[in-house]
Amino acid sequence: MSATLSKVTVLGAGRSGQAAAELALAQGAREVVLTDLNTEAPLYQGPHAERVRHVYGVHDEADLIQTDLVVLSPGIPARAAPVKLAQDAGVEVIGELGFAARYLAKTQPILAITGTNGKSTVTHFLAQILESAGMRTFAGGNLGTPLSAAVGKGFQVLAVEVSSYQLELPGDFSPWAAVILNLSPDHLGRHGDMAGYAQAKARIFDGLRPAGLAGMPHQEHLETAAQDKPGRRVWLDDVDVDQPVLDSLRILGRHNRWNAAVAMLLAAEVGVVPHDLSTLQGLPHRLEPVPSRDERTWINDSKATNVEAAQVGISALEGPGVILLGGKGKDGADYAALQGPIDGRPIICFGQAGPEIHAVLGGELVATLEQAVARAQGVTLPGESVLLSPACSSFDAFDNFEQRGRIFARLVQELS
Ligand code: ADP
Repeated sequence: MSATLSKVTVLGAGRSGQAAAELALAQGAREVVLTDLNTEAPLYQGPHAERVRHVYGVHDEADLIQTDLVVLSPGIPARAAPVKLAQDAGVEVIGELGFAARYLAKTQPILAITGTNGKSTVTHFLAQILESAGMRTFAGGNLGTPLSAAVGKGFQVLAVEVSSYQLELPGDFSPWAAVILNLSPDHLGRHGDMAGYAQAKARIFDGLRPAGLAGMPHQEHLETAAQDKPGRRVWLDDVDVDQPVLDSLRILGRHNRWNAAVAMLLAAEVGVVPHDLSTLQGLPHRLEPVPSRDERTWINDSKATNVEAAQVGISALEGPGVILLGGKGKDGADYAALQGPIDGRPIICFGQAGPEIHAVLGGELVATLEQAVARAQGVTLPGESVLLSPACSSFDAFDNFEQRGRIFARLVQELS
């Protein structure tokens, strides 16, 4: 535990910022300044709200310089001007994750998971394995509940999903064990290049004990970035996906066998070894079966918002079926890489990137997801599958991938 803070400035008033503010108040801060450039950001409405001052629309210089600590939300880059300002004035700036970790007891081990794809799934699998073993488990971090909200709740173990943004200023974040699942080009706007992205990810190992599991794949940039980091290096490419216990999984896809195997590796670090995985549930919008009345197997993989994720999703498809691709494309996306997993099955392209994908991969071209669903029913037979694994973000026509997935499910349910 650190000394009581008198004033804490929280940069960014999203979910993480709100949770950090609540934690600072619970730790006795006399004043919390919650500041966000967005004038519409939600006001803090938790306990001790009378000690919170909101500064929305601007960041007030005085709050960055005359404060005990600045806590940074992951949405704001560590190189942003207000961060520099505070640091130049000698004020400590830490990310929300590190701030939270400071107040967790040493008896509450953190099992940390990062990577470009699969973070949420592995975190969710791990939490279920630990819960099944009777441990009071927190699952959250980047997805779901921010780590700040876990403080003081008596969790025995914490399964924490960590994004590269959260690792820009990790502060005292010291996991008991940590894994980097994989690394493929993403968020390069924020991290500059692959080397910078790898460096951010490798920071997850910074606080490990020498014996703490540091799992990662063989990957050029990662190996360079992690070279001098502490921890017991385990190569995740070598994880055994043929262990018999994995046969009890009821979730699609070989990658999910691997995800479960990695979750088991982490669970073993706190002494938990599962003997049955049949009750393990997947997450919504990731190869999620959608109920239908038309004797086809409809699968919602709306979360596959980039080519790498779609490669994985499409590879999980067994037997004949049609694949729906499209949405808002990313510059330089390599749709040709989907050819292998598609394996000659028909595809239907839709949305803003539809024409580009169609030009690379052929198939049929329609305008909207709704038309794609109707067409998919037309070109498949009962018993066949339809997979939405779009390889694009949803922002051309939807608020987010969740909404796209929900609308897909509704369209499917409306089919006769
Ligand atoms: P994240 O939280 O990292 O975004 P998710 O667990 O939500 O990851 O999965 C996102 C997508 O990534 C899934 O829909 C799937 O297509 C793909 N994916 C899942 N696990 C893996 C993996 N181990 N390796 C590569 N891709 C994966």
